[in-house]
Amino acid sequence: MKFIADCHLGKIAKYLRIFGFDTLYFQSIDDDDIIEIAHKEQRFLLTSDKILYERMKHHNALYLAHAGFEEQLREIFHHYKLFDKSKPLSRCIKCNGELEKIEKQEVIEELKTKTKKYFDTFARCRECGRVYWHGDHYKNMLKFTSEFIARNKKETKF
Ligand SMILES: [Zn+2]
Repeated sequence: MKFIADCHLGKIAKYLRIFGFDTLYFQSIDDDDIIEIAHKEQRFLLTSDKILYERMKHHNALYLAHAGFEEQLREIFHHYKLFDKSKPLSRCIKCNGELEKIEKQEVIEELKTKTKKYFDTFARCRECGRVYWHGDHYKNMLKFTSEFIARNKKETKF
C-alpha cells in the first residue's frame, strides 16, 4: 500500500512514514505531476484539495475534510484499513527510504560521544544514509504509534 500526499500534508506524510507506510511528499509540486506519479507508481492520493481530489477520486484517493492532524490520520487509517499493517520505524522520516539494521561498528565513527556510549541498536536509511538509533526521539515515536492505534482502532466509522 503506497501513498502520495499533497503539499499541504507534510506532517501527515511524516507520520505515515513513522508508521512504516511508503509515502511520497513534495513541498511544492504541480497537480499534474502528483497525478502522474500516483498513476505510474500506483499510489493512493491523500489530499485536502477538493479540485485535486475530484481528478483522482476514481483511484481510491482520499479527501481529508477535517483540519485536525489526528482526525486526518484516523481517517486515513480507517479508509485504507491500516491498523494491522503498520511497521513503525522501518522507514526514513526524511526521505521515505527503507531502513536496514546495521552493526554499531559500522557507524561508530559517525556518532557523537553520548550516542556512542548509550546506544547499541542502529539502522541506516538505504536511500539517504541517515542513521537512526533507539534514543528518546525513537521511543517517543514508538509510543505515539502504539497509543494512536490503541486509541483509534476500535472506533467504528459510519
Ligand atoms: Zn533517508
